[in-house]
Amino acid sequence: MAAIIDGSAAATQTKDELKQRISDLASHGIVPGLCVILVGNNPASHVYVKNKEKACQNMNIYSQVLRMPEESSEAEIVNKVEELNRNPKIHGFLVQLPLPSHVNTQRVMNTILPAKDVDGFHPINLGHLLMGEAGPVPCTPAGIIHLIKTTGVTIAGKEAVVIGRSNIVGKPLALLLLRENATVTVCHSHTQNLAAVAQRADILVAAIGKARMIKRSFVKPGAVVIDVGINKDENNKLCGDVDFTDVSEVAGYLTPVPGGVGPMTIAMLLRNTVEAARAQLL
Ligand code: NDP
Repeated sequence: MAAIIDGSAAATQTKDELKQRISDLASHGIVPGLCVILVGNNPASHVYVKNKEKACQNMNIYSQVLRMPEESSEAEIVNKVEELNRNPKIHGFLVQLPLPSHVNTQRVMNTILPAKDVDGFHPINLGHLLMGEAGPVPCTPAGIIHLIKTTGVTIAGKEAVVIGRSNIVGKPLALLLLRENATVTVCHSHTQNLAAVAQRADILVAAIGKARMIKRSFVKPGAVVIDVGINKDENNKLCGDVDFTDVSEVAGYLTPVPGGVGPMTIAMLLRNTVEAARAQLL
């Protein structure tokens, strides 16, 4: 049976470590400030933003949510971004995705000041990641690397297979695994013989968005399996991309959904915010 990777416990530990850095900042009169721009009525986005707000409580991080109506124009959203770029109380902010379809998401993201881009999605920050330079790293991939390390499994030299190539999870995660000296394969909807490719993995990450698609036939015995997916099954029950019951019989380590990657993503957002605030001291 796979050992369960407890993302909630790992996130709590990360937040406890951050508290020391936050109190160091307080001694310099700095309270890290995080803001989320939330446009429209996407129910999942409202849940994510609530979770982000909750995580800031008890952390001495100032948090703010700017709610904008669904019909907001791109120019209005860009204006808000530019206000936050200038706001000295806000050290980091993000625009919750997805944006309404009439808005050009990339144009909005490109206006975020890279130093305040705590999601790490700005092309300049993604460029830093590609070059192996310092800068904010996208939260979900950073959290996944942290979770893999909690298992004690060495990443260097291992075969890592990432299923999914989005700009927010799959691609930045592949770069981070490469930085950790894994041999990395990235799969997507055109990949042939997916199960056979996945079975090569010592570290398998599913970031697909398809309920319980990954079965034991995709998994090498003893592998570390990280489930990024957040889906609803046919009974409207929250589940990942991995068939947890089936895969737990062959994997060495496995993240649950919920309680795996999700809490760690939020912990990494707080870490990026604290780092953005600490940059003021330099
Ligand atoms: P996207 O929809 O942007 O990307 C999905 C990827 O999966 C694409 O690269 C797609 O390939 C690939 N894919 C789709 N179907 C298949 C298939 N049958 N075989 C192989 N590959 C396939 O999703 P995201 O990366 O944004 O998110 C993935 C999942 O992770 C979602 O469930 C999302 O909700 C969740 N998520 C969870 C987070 C957390 O904090 N826990 C954070 C972010 C996301 P192609 O490129 O060819 O279309």
